[in-house]
Amino acid sequence: MPSLKKYRTMRDFAETAEPRGSDRARPKKLARGQSYVIQKHAARRLHYDFRLEHDGALLSWAVPKGPNLDPSVKRLAVETEPHPLEYGGFEGTIPKGQYGGGTVMVWDRGSWEPEGDARAAYRKGHLAFTLKGEKLRGRWHLVRTKGDREAQKSWLLFKAQDEL
Ligand code: MN
Repeated sequence: MPSLKKYRTMRDFAETAEPRGSDRARPKKLARGQSYVIQKHAARRLHYDFRLEHDGALLSWAVPKGPNLDPSVKRLAVETEPHPLEYGGFEGTIPKGQYGGGTVMVWDRGSWEPEGDARAAYRKGHLAFTLKGEKLRGRWHLVRTKGDREAQKSWLLFKAQDEL
């Protein structure tokens, strides 16, 4: 599973109510694929944390402007450290002065289904998937931008055309 080391290093669990997460998280049994969540995070700058369960953790991207349903609108999604699965249920206020200080609320949740092998697609930097959330549904893409020399953290999130 993706390492939670960075996630833990960045936080003081004596100060924040965010989950520390277990190293042997058992994937939740969802009838339709793996879990997906978007958390609206009113930190210093408001953003939307987009998370996809993968291999026992939540792959995470911060989307400053949030998702857009128009396929022609591509949103910057900055990859952040993998979060523990338990984080998907977290809502609350991270204290001021702590990493990500501000209010976190679940904006959407549900499941996602990758097209093809998710591990290979993630490595390649192009995830195509279907969301079955309460707000977001249908096919989406996450594509790592080329030429991003800063550790390749920049991706684009955008809606794909759904078949009619
Ligand atoms: Mn955040």
